Amino acid sequence: MRPFSSLLSQGSNSYICNSCRRALTSTVNTDPTKQHRPRNRYAAYSTASVQSRSRPIDVAIIGSGPAGFYSAYRLLKRLPDARITMFEHLPVPYGLARYGVAPDHPEVKRCTDTLENLARESSGNFHFVGNCPIGDCPEELPLTAVTPYFDALLFAYGASRDKRIGIPGEDLKGVVSARAFVGWYNGLPEYADLDVDLIAGDTAVVIGQGNVALDVTRTLLAPLEELRKSDINEETVEALSRSKVREVKIIGRRGPLQAPYTIKELRELMNLPNVGFASPPEGWEDLLQVPRKKLPRQLKRIAELLEKGSTSPLEHGKKAWQLGFLRSPTLFLSESGEKLQSVGFEKTEYERPLVDLLTGDPQSDLNALRAAKVQPTGQKGLIRTNLAFRSVGYQSEPLAGMEEVGVPFDVAKGIIPNDRWGRVLSPSLGIGGAASALTAGHVPGMYCAGWVKRGPTGVIASTMDDAFLTADVLAGDWEQHALFLGGGGGKTENDSVGRAGYKGVIQEIRRRGIRSVSWSEWEKIDAEERRRGKATGKEREKIRRVPEMLRLLDS
Ligand code: NAP
Repeated sequence: MRPFSSLLSQGSNSYICNSCRRALTSTVNTDPTKQHRPRNRYAAYSTASVQSRSRPIDVAIIGSGPAGFYSAYRLLKRLPDARITMFEHLPVPYGLARYGVAPDHPEVKRCTDTLENLARESSGNFHFVGNCPIGDCPEELPLTAVTPYFDALLFAYGASRDKRIGIPGEDLKGVVSARAFVGWYNGLPEYADLDVDLIAGDTAVVIGQGNVALDVTRTLLAPLEELRKSDINEETVEALSRSKVREVKIIGRRGPLQAPYTIKELRELMNLPNVGFASPPEGWEDLLQVPRKKLPRQLKRIAELLEKGSTSPLEHGKKAWQLGFLRSPTLFLSESGEKLQSVGFEKTEYERPLVDLLTGDPQSDLNALRAAKVQPTGQKGLIRTNLAFRSVGYQSEPLAGMEEVGVPFDVAKGIIPNDRWGRVLSPSLGIGGAASALTAGHVPGMYCAGWVKRGPTGVIASTMDDAFLTADVLAGDWEQHALFLGGGGGKTENDSVGRAGYKGVIQEIRRRGIRSVSWSEWEKIDAEERRRGKATGKEREKIRRVPEMLRLLDS
């Protein structure tokens, strides 16, 4: 591995994307062990000098998205002889970086260079095991079959489901999950055959005002010639070229200062050629309520951008979009009970006038305005549409078999309970009998990072920070002889024996007849995608179906 500081000085060739680089510069020169030293009762090591370990650690990372690859990168930085095996359920790596980032954000996708370089330069201590879902179905690898080969498991498998709103009609034809739509236009195999009717009407409604909602809107309205240059699939471009959608309404239950969109994504929509922005019917004064000069800087910039509107005037635009505020969805309506005809809302209002929340301190004003609550007014309304996207956030799920290996899952929060540093907290004694073998506190050798650790919020740079934190803590625990899986650690006899790691688990995988995919095989898929992309003048044309990927490898 090259030293971290050299990566930061590589200019545009660096394999850390720019936003991640900005986040990094604040931490790179500090000692992470000290910076992230746990202060709570789960602290497992001190900073006193320790005897180094007699053998390298074997770590299994579950998930190859940003949380997984930044954890791997950092672990190898901290423990250069660590042996890492990265499991991925698809034959291809990168998770959300490949399948969640919008096609017209290629600079964000560059974060995948981290893993590419790591795999190339790791001199045999990194192994990718693709097409190997962890679970208890046929052709899946049970967690109980993974743990015997490793000192530690690091769960970094992200959020594989979308949240539901919980209102009637959510399953009608025409109500589409934004996660599924994003997967479809990004070539995610799970949604290769998603049925999105883009020709049923000219208006689409998006519920939720986060960055996913803005990505969906931009993809629906952006000029095709721009999208065509990206790595968006040709099949998707074909479907979008037939789309009749001319207007998108993005609806939020709170106001313009509370919506979680960020200014960069708002600005991109405002700058779309031939797309006009329609101001909300209430007018900005009623919605913003606070004199602009009293707004914290970040919110003032958002307010000014919204008031300024789009670069293409609405009346000249061929297409349009609008933000609808203070409207809470109540139901999806259909007379036939099959196909969506309209979306029902209830108007909301701020619980307290927004000016009453101001104290004059910019940070507390920002927090208070962002967190402002609303209440229902009883006033109802309808928007006629045949196409609505639910974009109210993502959700992580437990992996089958977690309980058997002593790893709990908090279903209400959608996370693996952890001590904020990435150590998995042990379930209360007695739950499913699993905890009896565990010490109180954290589960030895079990760690988590990314959305499954802290919930599905934050951009890739925040996931990187979070993954670095977990990797630093794991490395620190190892150096400090904390207890790991199978009793490894604590200067016991097991410590010098070591685990079989990749060599052991790959035999297990073969015994079970799972057709796993190695990094060099992924490179073959990658090369083929790039070859196909070149033919149409773009970076790559993704292969959308797993059987086709495997046929390519086995041909
Ligand atoms: P999000 O940012 O959490 O936004 C969810 C939206 O859904 C909010 O407007 C929320 O309103 C609303 N909502 C939640 N439950 C609702 C309900 N029951 N009824 C009505 N509205 C409801 O989620 P996201 O857009 O899926 O994004 C997830 C994360 O990925 C975010 O951190 C985002 O920044 C990140 N991301 C970043 C990019 C990028 O950097 N370009 C792109 C995509 C995603 P309330 O605020 O009132 O709860």
